[in-house]
Formats: sequence, structure tokens, C-alpha cells
Amino acid sequence: MAARVLVLGAGFGGLELTATLAEELGDAADITLIDRTEEFVFGFSKLDVMFGRVRADHVRHRYSGLAAPGVTFVHAGVTAIDADAKRVETTAGTFDADYLVIALGADYDLSRTRGLAEYGHEFYSEAGAFATRDVLEAFTGGDVVVGITAGPFKCPPAPSETVLLLEEMLRQRGIRDSSTITLVMPFPRPIPPSPDASAAILAAFEERGIAWHPDTGVRSLDGDRRVANLGDGAQLPFDLYLGVPVHRVPDVIEASGLTVDGWVPVDPLTLETPWPDVFAIGDCAAVGTPRAGVFAERQGVTAARRIAARVRDASAVDRYDGRGTCYIEFGGDAVGIVDVDFFAGRPSATLHGPSRALAADKNAFGAARVKRWFGRDWDPVGRSGRARTGPP
Ligand SMILES: Cc1cc2nc3c(=O)[nH]c(=O)nc-3n(C[C@H](O)[C@H](O)[C@H](O)COP(=O)(O)OP(=O)(O)OC[C@H]3O[C@@H](n4cnc5c(N)ncnc54)[C@H](O)[C@@H]3O)c2cc1C
Repeated sequence: MAARVLVLGAGFGGLELTATLAEELGDAADITLIDRTEEFVFGFSKLDVMFGRVRADHVRHRYSGLAAPGVTFVHAGVTAIDADAKRVETTAGTFDADYLVIALGADYDLSRTRGLAEYGHEFYSEAGAFATRDVLEAFTGGDVVVGITAGPFKCPPAPSETVLLLEEMLRQRGIRDSSTITLVMPFPRPIPPSPDASAAILAAFEERGIAWHPDTGVRSLDGDRRVANLGDGAQLPFDLYLGVPVHRVPDVIEASGLTVDGWVPVDPLTLETPWPDVFAIGDCAAVGTPRAGVFAERQGVTAARRIAARVRDASAVDRYDGRGTCYIEFGGDAVGIVDVDFFAGRPSATLHGPSRALAADKNAFGAARVKRWFGRDWDPVGRSGRARTGPP
């Protein structure tokens, strides 16, 4: 009988895990992939939509056309996970598994930042980022604060990219001189493991007049006085506040008793949880790497290969290596690349670029994943012109 593999969450990690597993095992596995949404959206596409590079419908990838043979997609919400029994309750019924993978990502808790929901705009969820596009279009100039409440947060370079793309947008619209931009981050430098990437980003901030407020987070927004209250006691006036909310595991993970210190515990080299044959990958897992798609993806490959070895009764040799390549938008269609290694004794990272050639590399990265997971051609930022709606 084929091994039943149940994958919860069809995000960056879950999609790559199922693709790898289908390749490795073919008919030897019966793979079910469950997600509460019907479409996948890359994290970086949220910024592309928010800054008017492409339309929202261009970045949504429907699960109905999954490329991996033998994978059944179920559109349902996961409501309870019994890791001992490897049994999962969903809005579409109960599923039993021989191998269970938890790849449910991270959710946001806006209530932890007083005033954020009322006076600010979170741009990290799909809905938040897409709605922020209209907010930016209507903005006529003033003080902008881009603030993070606390770590960990997804894709550490994303807030730096946001202020650089925002600066470019305001300049193109002729309202840069009547605006200020400040980035508040609870890190000493924009990309902690990479001094050279951080130096390049700080130089770009300096050159473009973007204020950098490190080592603290935004605690609350005062709507009457229109100020952001920071953890270090500073107060920043804002006309427009763009926020990264507190991250947490989805409710169902917490309610199922699967967390330690807020995240799902795993062996970082194997991605297996303390429950045998139950794996956790990506943003919901405590792996020790940043929350980003490139890390979730590689964790998915390792977990898939280890499951495949177990199904075949072979010894599993694949170990997660903590490596990833992060793309950083600098504005002006220039992209930098940072190769990061988190398990090399201490985190290390090298910056390449920024350049327009590397922007093409980033496009190829997105296009290759859509081809692999969905079997479709895709041009991430619509350079063909079809999908573009805003200024280039
Ligand atoms: C603005 C922004 C820019 C980013 N840029 C980049 C980038 O350039 N490069 C990069 O590598 N990463 C980037 N990221 C981060 C990246 O998007 C995430 O880290 C990555 O998607 C994590 O993968 P995952 O598989 O762990 O979770 P996700 O991709 O978030 O997938 C989790 C899935 O679980 C589903 N789910 C959750 N709860 C339930 C439930 N109860 N029932 C059913 N389904 C459920 C969700 O619908 C989702 O599809 C960015 C993020 C943001 C916000």
C-alpha cells in the first residue's frame, strides 16, 4: 500500500516538499496537500503589487493546476492536529497519515500593537499589501514611518526594500520633497548576518535621505497625536504608517499543543518534530534560520528526502544545511543577492550587486518555481507589459 503523506499548508515550503516527494516516490506515496486558500502568492509579489508593478491577479497561482503527479489538493481549513495519532481535522473532514508535515507558515497578531489596526496599514498579509497599494496611490506627501513591532519577522530584507521602493515611488510622483521616510527596526543593522549587505543598504538610505532608527520596535500608535511610540522612548510623527505586525504560529498549531516558546520544535538538521514521522518546515518551525521562502523551500527538500528514505526503508542521509539566497530590491530595477549560511559556525553572508542583471536573476527564480510547481510560464513583474499597471 502507498504511504499516506499529509502536507498541511501549500506555501513555499509545502509546494516544494510535495514536488520533491512526488519525484522521489512516484506511486509509492499517496500525497495530500491541504490549504485554506485556493491560490499561492510569493512574498515578493506582495511588494510588486503594493508598488504598482503588477496587478494582483497576475501574482495569484491557482492550486487547481498543480504540476506534481499524484498529489491531491484539498481546499480546506485545518482545525485540529493530533501529532501522536497523525490525524488531522479539517473543514473538509478527517485525514489520517503515515507521515505528517506541518507547513502552515506564520500568522500576524495586530492586537499586540495598540493602534496598528486603526491608524496604520499592515503590509505583510496578502490582503494588507494589496490594500496598501490604494493607500499609496492616494498619498499626497507627508511623514511616512515603516515600522516593525518585534522579531522574528518574515524576510528581514523586506522592510528595507519597502522604504527604498517607496522613496522611488514618491520621487517619481513628485512628492518626495514634501515627504520624510523613516524605517524602525529591532536590529542593529538591516541584515544582521551580512555586514556588507547592511552597509550597502545604509549607504542607499543615506544617499536617498531615508532615516534609519535601529535597535528598537514600534510599541503603539497614538491616533490622536499621530505619533508612533517606540520601545526606546522615542516618538515619531506620521501621516502614513506602514507596519510589520507581531508574527505567531497559526491558531490551530497553538491550540493543538504543538509549540514550545511559540513555535513548533524541530531537529534543525532533519526537520522532524519530537513526534515520530511528524515534520515541520518553514515559518512555523523553530529551525534557527530566518523566516523566508528560500529557507522554507530547502527545508521542504530535506524533509521530503527523509520521508522518502523512510518509505523506502533506506537510511536517510539528507541534512538541512541552513543556506539560502535572498534577493534585495534597491529601487531603480536594481537587485542585490545575499548568499546566507546559518549553520557555518556563525551566520555569514556575502552581497552581490545590486544590478539590473540580478533583477533578471530574481525573475528567473520566481518563473522557475511556478514552472516546477504549477507547470505554467510566468513573468513575475510582467516585463512583457501585459501585467504592468503602474510606472516601471
Ligand atoms: C512583504 C514580504 C516579502 C517577502 N519577500 C520574500 C523574498 O523575496 N524571498 C523569500 O524567500 N521570502 C520572502 N518573504 C517571506 C516568505 O513569503 C515566507 O517566509 C514564506 O512564504 C514561508 O513559507 P512557508 O511555507 O513556511 O509558509 P507560507 O508560504 O506562508 O505558507 C503557509 C500556508 O499555510 C496555509 N495555512 C495557514 N493556516 C492554515 C489553516 N489553518 N488551514 C489551512 N491552511 C492554512 C496558508 O494559507 C499558506 O498557504 C516575504 C514575505 C513578505 C511578507
